Amino acid sequence: MLIDLHTHSDASDGTDTPEQLMAVAAAAKLDVVAITDHDTTAGWDLAAEALPAGLTLVRGAEFSCQHTAENGRRISLHLLGYLFDPDHAALKAERARLQENRLGRGRAIVDNMVADGVPITWERVRQLAGDGAVGRPHIGRALVEQGVVPDVTAAFSEHLSSRSKYYVPKADSDVFDIVGMIHAAGGVSVFAHPLARRRGSVVDDCVITRLAQAGLAGVEVDHPDHAPADRAHLRDLAADLGLIGTGSSDYHGTNKRTAIADCVTSPDAYEAMVDRARALTPITRG
Ligand code: AMP
Ligand code: FE
Ligand code: FE
Ligand code: ZN
Repeated sequence: MLIDLHTHSDASDGTDTPEQLMAVAAAAKLDVVAITDHDTTAGWDLAAEALPAGLTLVRGAEFSCQHTAENGRRISLHLLGYLFDPDHAALKAERARLQENRLGRGRAIVDNMVADGVPITWERVRQLAGDGAVGRPHIGRALVEQGVVPDVTAAFSEHLSSRSKYYVPKADSDVFDIVGMIHAAGGVSVFAHPLARRRGSVVDDCVITRLAQAGLAGVEVDHPDHAPADRAHLRDLAADLGLIGTGSSDYHGTNKRTAIADCVTSPDAYEAMVDRARALTPITRG
């Protein structure tokens, strides 16, 4: 069984349509794929309609969250929610708020670049995002088009870095609130790439312990942005805390260098995750 529980479509910052994403998953011989766009469920129906026989679809989303550390430092983190009720009012309102905030914040980053003479426009970034939730990768593609950087990943080392002078943070909600909302919506929460250090500061183990007490169900252990020692550490921590340990590619199409199924989840972990869901079940056709 090949199971990838974290992928993106062009409903957020991936480059495949949800239909193409299902085809890519099938071509990679995946048995289970989760669609987890940032702060939106807009790709769910298209993915379900395009689901090929033999592939199981898990509907999810990746919520942009933050945690304020004891030293007052703000840490940005991502929480995967699976199989939650898309009509749960509080969680739905939060997705709408996050998408709206992405618009203003994306525009503010672009304004900073334009003021500094970087040759891109907000209009083009909006076009590249289409109806999807706007993210820094869309700005990255505009930079690539203009020949400012060779690819989106290179843009993240410079113009799009959280350490760049152009950077504007998103107004994300507290991670403990989102864990509570996903649970209230009948879903299952998994901490995405907790030790992806390249992206910025990461939380201490004690925060993961407190999240587990607050209802967090799992942590992503195997992820392309995790070093081998960090994977080993997370595997032990998950075992100690009774958390499900998942693995996933975080595939974004051509916006990232990672292939789908680059990291995968064990069947046991997958079943444990599905068992905890109270709102939705995975979809299988044929
Ligand atoms: P945002 O959600 O707008 O803050 O942008 C963050 C997104 O950028 C992440 O979800 C990834 O999809 C993408 N990203 C982060 N780091 C990199 C990188 N080094 N190369 C390519 N994409 C990245
Ligand atoms: Fe992304
Ligand atoms: Fe993420
Ligand atoms: Zn992701």
